[in-house]
Amino acid sequence: MTAQVIDGKAFAAKLRERVGEFAATFAEKAGRKAGLAVVLVGEDPASQVYVRSKHKATLAANMESFEHRLPADTSEDDLLALVARLNADPAVDGILVQLPLPDHLDEQAVIGAISPDKDVDGFHVTNAGRLAVGQSGFVPCTPLGCMMLLTDRLGDLSGLEAVVIGRSNIVGKPMAQLLLDANATVTIAHSRTKDLPAVVRRADIVVAAVGRAEMVKAEWLKDGATVIDVGINRLPPEPGADKGRLVGDVDYAGAQAVASAITPVPGGVGPMTIAVLLRNTLVAAYRNEGLNLPEDAL
Ligand code: NDP
Repeated sequence: MTAQVIDGKAFAAKLRERVGEFAATFAEKAGRKAGLAVVLVGEDPASQVYVRSKHKATLAANMESFEHRLPADTSEDDLLALVARLNADPAVDGILVQLPLPDHLDEQAVIGAISPDKDVDGFHVTNAGRLAVGQSGFVPCTPLGCMMLLTDRLGDLSGLEAVVIGRSNIVGKPMAQLLLDANATVTIAHSRTKDLPAVVRRADIVVAAVGRAEMVKAEWLKDGATVIDVGINRLPPEPGADKGRLVGDVDYAGAQAVASAITPVPGGVGPMTIAVLLRNTLVAAYRNEGLNLPEDAL
């Protein structure tokens, strides 16, 4: 068997296009564009790249992008004051504070200060709680993107065995909640799990969100499993190269011979994250204006 490649890049491009169309309709109805505010504190190079690509993608989707770049030594009071201003600004539908924050800033306090109705990253405890009890709120972008790829591929997930490796608040836990809501039988594995290969072997769906290059081996997988690889890991550079290759948490080449479908790295889950961020921002905008976005629109 050769696994089908789940083309997250193509799926994300279509989603962004649909978001762009609904964003144009929103602008006509509301008399303003939907707006996303992104706050970057300091000069972390990876964060700068993410913020730049979010800015470009937001504009391309017919939305307003408000960038706030603050120096690394910004005080928590000043950052909280900016968040309060954005909460009160009717032109801002979504607020994203790029993580990680410099060490002297308390991430939980800053995220907790964002209005839950503008928390398009879905990291606020109110949104985590809404997800846990099955109320509608904002769901973190990466796991929601994984879920879209899974339902597109498999349709109804009822009764399927799903194993999520990783239990972070931004990927593993919300991923497990979403799978549970879709009636899968869910196991969450982590660094203390005993005999991880045996746990993974019973899974129809494997979601790997660990951060360890190619940790999940082909022999761990059940024949025909669907594999979603969230991990982004850079290997050490080959001799003569200045950068190493990007790989996921799954041994992609090996898994291709066993799985029925698998997301590549790069080009799988990664592109979904920004697309879902735009989708969440548009949903926020429709809600903020009391406008109706058709249930199955995005
Ligand atoms: P975290 O470091 O917060 O969590 C990693 C999880 O993996 C933890 O729950 C940890 O267990 C578990 N783990 C670590 N080692 C093992 C092991 N040997 N066996 C089993 N479980 C293990 O990472 P994130 O959730 O933030 O991210 C995970 C990966 O996804 C990273 O590679 C990250 O770069 C990538 N990522 C990709 C995104 C995208 O857009 N594609 C977005 C976000 C993340 P424990 O809790 O016991 O420590």
